[in-house]
Amino acid sequence: MALFSDLKLNLKILNAIEDVGYKEPTPIQLQAIPAALEGRDVLGIAQTGTGKTASFTLPMIHLLARGRARARMPRSLVLCPTRELAAQVAENFDTYAKNLKLTKALLIGGVSFKEQDTLIDKGVDVLIATPGRLIDHFERGKLLLTGVQVMVVDEADRMLYMGFIPDIERIFKLTPFTRQTLFFSATMAPEIERITNTFLSAPIRVEIARQ
Ligand code: AMP
Repeated sequence: MALFSDLKLNLKILNAIEDVGYKEPTPIQLQAIPAALEGRDVLGIAQTGTGKTASFTLPMIHLLARGRARARMPRSLVLCPTRELAAQVAENFDTYAKNLKLTKALLIGGVSFKEQDTLIDKGVDVLIATPGRLIDHFERGKLLLTGVQVMVVDEADRMLYMGFIPDIERIFKLTPFTRQTLFFSATMAPEIERITNTFLSAPIRVEIARQ
């Protein structure tokens, strides 16, 4: 049996996982986490239910545990197609990072700009956003994406169906060329393939069969 403790994650993260009660990493976690911890780009082809959210949040938390956020310059970014999914990712962060002092902001419709602006002004480790809302914040001039070290695109195929691909391309171009990218999609439509060829750098491809 594979163990979480075999993945070279920060002890404070391992303790949080133990508290949640997970016994062993899922296949996508086993493959994606070591690659992400090495700094590699990851292309994960997996559905919801495979444990894909932890496969990107756990290594991100590990990488963010060192260092500190600067005002208006988030250190990492997670893009989600819907606000429900973004809120779910935020909950995952809270659960797995509960023993660390990491800050986050959630940029989604229905949450006030003012409250989130205040957080961003102070500096956040993780920004979790839907693409449209992120661009709204960016255009108001209060957010810089040049400090993003890790960027995640979650459920890219849903982004495609919702017409977010131009926004995603724009956001990729606002982040540093040197960022690490963790990209997840349930399917690989040609348009998704094109985006990954353009913006990922020698990714490790992890494909998990439909459950
Ligand atoms: P996801 O595919 O990320 O939407 O995760 C699906 C569900 O699996 C969520 O409820 C997670 O809390 C749960 N989960 C994630 N990783 C594990 C694991 N290693 N063992 C058991 N459950 C897990």
